[in-house]
Amino acid sequence: MKRDRRVKILATLGPASSDPSVIEKLFRAGADVFRINMSHTGHDRLATLVADIRAVETRVGRPIGILADLQGPKLRLGAFAAGPVDLTPDQFFVLDADPAPGDARRVHLPHPEILAAVEVGHHLLVDDGKVKLRCVEKKGSSLICSVVVAGRVSDRKGVSLPDTDLPIGALTEKDRSDLDAALAQDVDWIALSFVQRPEDLAEVRKIAKGRAGIMAKIEKPQAIERLAEIIELSDAIMVARGDLGVEMPLERVPSLQKQINRACRRAGKPVVVATQMLESMINAPVPTRAEVSDVAIAVYEGSDAIMLSAESAAGKYPVEAVAMMNSIADATESDPTWRGIIASQRPEAEATGAGAITAAARQIGETLNVAAIVCLTQSGSTGLRAARERPFTRVVALTASPAMARRLALVWGVHCVVAEDARNVDDMVDRACRVAYGEGWARPGQRVIVVGGVPFGTPGSTNMLRIAFVGADGSGAL
Ligand code: PEP
Repeated sequence: MKRDRRVKILATLGPASSDPSVIEKLFRAGADVFRINMSHTGHDRLATLVADIRAVETRVGRPIGILADLQGPKLRLGAFAAGPVDLTPDQFFVLDADPAPGDARRVHLPHPEILAAVEVGHHLLVDDGKVKLRCVEKKGSSLICSVVVAGRVSDRKGVSLPDTDLPIGALTEKDRSDLDAALAQDVDWIALSFVQRPEDLAEVRKIAKGRAGIMAKIEKPQAIERLAEIIELSDAIMVARGDLGVEMPLERVPSLQKQINRACRRAGKPVVVATQMLESMINAPVPTRAEVSDVAIAVYEGSDAIMLSAESAAGKYPVEAVAMMNSIADATESDPTWRGIIASQRPEAEATGAGAITAAARQIGETLNVAAIVCLTQSGSTGLRAARERPFTRVVALTASPAMARRLALVWGVHCVVAEDARNVDDMVDRACRVAYGEGWARPGQRVIVVGGVPFGTPGSTNMLRIAFVGADGSGAL
């Protein structure tokens, strides 16, 4: 089974899509990676979902990626004594350390470190910004706020603090336990929510020890300020537009998406565009024109992956949403202007042997119109470098590691195949041709480019490029 499109599709699983037969339908409709949202998934459910996805993988014979998305430090109000409260414009409202149920004048904020960190003038956004407060005075550990945008507040509503550097890491106790559970299930990617600073990635890296790729979700202004360092320390980035649009002015989200996208493409790190891509398909079988355009824009930007959240997790049309995303991606990538846009955003080759070789592979591929660029990759870095070039020639990544094949399922244009390590250079060329032929990417008589590293199996040693003909039986011929 092969897909022609380069952009990958990430589909979130949830009540609408947890059944194994639906997971298989989602894959067949176009999902390349499944996201399990740990905010709503217990450890038993996680284990069942992973087993079901692995069973689909066996049935369809293709590597499928799994992303476990950690909840992160989601801050919440305490409870109210008599149900929801309507706050009025300019009234005062106090957030304090008293666990007693709240009323129209005050409520508990059960995060003492946040009460200490907020400064006069900082804003607090309740319930995704539906209510906006501004701290006008601090009295002991209480925050006296004035209501800037009025509305209803109720038990345990989320609180965002766009102006405050939160003195907390990105991993809560719940996240640590979820991370252990996800690693025990051999998931391929871990997403870290509400990353503020590069240091936030250190702890999760230490625990994961390379067993999963680490994806930083960019959703806080503090992360935008240190974007380059965060990208450098992450294996992938998610433009988490839901919370980003709460923490930053909504009108800045499109330009931030572009900036993050370009920074990731320069760095050769996979980038996922997420949230509300086909939002109306939660309830309707067809999306709005604006949503179709939004998906297409992410494809024109050369994003590695586009993501569905509630559309596939809790909507009425999960399979239709994936199929629609797949059709939009196919149609966009068939547009002649797509090539021009992708090529114009191509970054300079990295000044390393591996960077130069993958850039040369792209150029030779286009000059000779070869059938495929076949990368032999252990650590995944040759596959990522090849994708960084955004070549129009198909990239086939050969790896002995099923885990790496699954991880690369997220990456732009990469078709992953699990195969034994090559014994020598001739064997490497032969394997590359056989796989390109066997997977349907090359016909006898066509040329493929083989990229790899000698000595074999040494991560990061990309130093070899060969042009080979596919023989009549699919084997390699020089
Ligand atoms: C987002 O905020 O856009 C996002 C993807 O994160 P979550 O779904 O966890 O809120």
